[in-house]
Amino acid sequence: MSDGYRQLLDATIQHLEGLKSRGVRHVAVAPETLRALALPPSAAPKSQISNLKSQIPTAAVPPKTEPTIFMPPKKSAAPIAAPKVAISIPKIEITSSSPEKAAAFTALRDRALACVKCPHLAASRTTVVFGVGSIDAQLMFVGEAPGADEDESGEPFVGRAGQLLTKIILATGLSRADVYIANILKCRPDTPGQSAGNRPPTPEERATCIPYLQEQIDLIQPKAIVALGATAVDGLLGKTLGITKLRGNWQTYRGIPLMPTYHPAYLLRNQAMSEKRKVWEDILKVMEKLEMPVSTKQRNFFLPA
Ligand code: URA
Repeated sequence: MSDGYRQLLDATIQHLEGLKSRGVRHVAVAPETLRALALPPSAAPKSQISNLKSQIPTAAVPPKTEPTIFMPPKKSAAPIAAPKVAISIPKIEITSSSPEKAAAFTALRDRALACVKCPHLAASRTTVVFGVGSIDAQLMFVGEAPGADEDESGEPFVGRAGQLLTKIILATGLSRADVYIANILKCRPDTPGQSAGNRPPTPEERATCIPYLQEQIDLIQPKAIVALGATAVDGLLGKTLGITKLRGNWQTYRGIPLMPTYHPAYLLRNQAMSEKRKVWEDILKVMEKLEMPVSTKQRNFFLPA
């Protein structure tokens, strides 16, 4: 391997690791370049290897436009196994009626995306799952930590539990874009030696990450927070009586009304109508607190016929 090739490779790896640590998940690489990379170094056409450098984004964060770009492999191309060629660029523009608030939130997110305070999580994560929704939201949902789907996509609550949360939000008449959704922990808890599975954040991980959430809440200033499950409740309120006793009872977090309720993952495990109704009753209380209209149909969701 020539020195020049090795230097380019080292620089490329270093650059990609830097991007990864800042939360970037995909980079654009042309099919020809992938084909060239699959060849032994001596066989790779120089022009294609040198192309690689120009294709790697130099910005620390993706550009402000939000396209999802697909680069289908050319039909005649030899099949290449490894890297992904579908590139999705995460949404990055944060908007608000207050430009200062948007700027502060953007700066906060940039810090979180570059965070390596938990080196084991920084090494194992695909993305930092910062949060999603409106930073002017009146209502905020806080969960535990990203799972595999969230780590993959960079967006909280997109897996099975997330789809259920989305249904709950839609049932209030709001959409995901109207509220703000975040987690106690911004990185997926690692599970060394296991190819699947989740674990709750450790107290140390929680304590390290929670300042980001506190800053998110301080900037958003929602009129109500829904804490989803024990980790979210304990994370925000400190050690508590436990979710079963607390759910449905208003608490206060830094002056903001906080409603503890069950995590949607619990509702997936326990499909009883009575448990769904409990969560829905908690949500009805939140709707009332926010002076949202509640129809008779909504009031009666999950009641026995
Ligand atoms: N569970 C959570 O608590 N958060 C997510 O983002 C996804 C699942």
